[in-house]
Amino acid sequence: MGMTYRQYLSGPRIYGCSNCRTHLATIESMMSRAFNGQHGRAYLFMKVVNVIEGEACERAMTTGQHTVRDIYCVKCSTTLGWKYEVAQEPSQKYKEGHYILERNLLVDVQ
Ligand SMILES: [Zn+2]
Repeated sequence: MGMTYRQYLSGPRIYGCSNCRTHLATIESMMSRAFNGQHGRAYLFMKVVNVIEGEACERAMTTGQHTVRDIYCVKCSTTLGWKYEVAQEPSQKYKEGHYILERNLLVDVQ
């Protein structure tokens, strides 16, 4: 995937892929630290860059039924988390269009 265009973020704190340090998100776009991913704690972000979105699929979670897409690092293809497309429960609608990144897969790159 050598020629893939990558975006560079700026700000006081940047989270990147722990495998290849590709920039993913800024602390300003973090909505919550209180999420669980597939591998432990996870963060909810407004916006994430440099990821590829997989096929939409239905997933039953503790907070109800969701339509999600797994997200992959554009450079190294590591599965980093997922994007919420649709949340069935009205109380969970705020997550739609936003992204989960697994804490264990992130590093501070700045
Ligand atoms: Zn990566």
